[in-house]
Amino acid sequence: MPGGRYCGRFAPSPTGPLHFGSLLAAVASFLQARVRNGIWRVRIEDLDPPREAAGAAADILRTLEAFGLHWDGEVRYQGRRSPAYAAAVEKLADTGRLFPCACSRREIADRGIGGVDGPVYPGTCRNGLPPGRSARALRVRTDAALVSFSDGIQGPMSLDLERAVGDFVVYRADGLYAYQLAVVVDDAADGVTEVVRGADLLLSTPRQIHLQHLLDLPTPAYRHIPVAIDAAGCKLSKSAGAAALDRERPGTALWRALSFLGQRPAPELYAAPPAELWPWALAHWRIEKVPPRRTRAAGVG
Ligand code: GLU
Repeated sequence: MPGGRYCGRFAPSPTGPLHFGSLLAAVASFLQARVRNGIWRVRIEDLDPPREAAGAAADILRTLEAFGLHWDGEVRYQGRRSPAYAAAVEKLADTGRLFPCACSRREIADRGIGGVDGPVYPGTCRNGLPPGRSARALRVRTDAALVSFSDGIQGPMSLDLERAVGDFVVYRADGLYAYQLAVVVDDAADGVTEVVRGADLLLSTPRQIHLQHLLDLPTPAYRHIPVAIDAAGCKLSKSAGAAALDRERPGTALWRALSFLGQRPAPELYAAPPAELWPWALAHWRIEKVPPRRTRAAGVG
């Protein structure tokens, strides 16, 4: 972090109330920022109105406050950032790496090339739209070269973006900007120096690094914490209706979150109020103790 102050962030999507799985990313990114005397920002990723739950953004913020997760500065709302995303799309167009694509999801899936995150784009419109077809989305061209980074929890990562993902969408067929673009623009605009988030986004990181290179933006450090899974092995997620955190009893969930994150909070602190748990957590936080795994059962610890 040469010359700059540490800046971390928590970026929930307002698809439902905060649950234990998303609390983990909030707690880890918060502690990581606070022990470095850094800034911790909150960004509401309200990029996709059809997936939003009414009132979820305000509810998430109220829960963060009840848990003692106090953020710095104004909350950023991605729903108000279209001009910045449009400027980034223009800049990508200037690099010559952007192209209009006419393919539907179905057509791409039918080509049957499996990748790390769904079907790989087969390159159909890379060199121009097929005759008679019109553009639906904008994609950015990938390279056959490996994108490598060293994750601060999961270790060294490398991905051949072209083979594992293919050229990916930055502007969607439904007229919305893609998460991959928005997150890169906002992490840079907020001066984020380190991203701490769930390992479900580990394989998105090479796409984000690719965009940072094309847009001439700095690459922050990345640390991906294990994703909490339930007894059936499924990720706890807002969209799958995971239980909302209880604002009246933050201590239990906070203790469990610290435990999940490998921090071994003292048993006598179980269910203690946040005002007692946070000083312990700040004094004892060691990110090296977070297990280097992509998933972990929510009940452990
Ligand atoms: N909005 C994403 C989520 O709620 C997180 C995105 C990020 O941290 O980059 O899972």
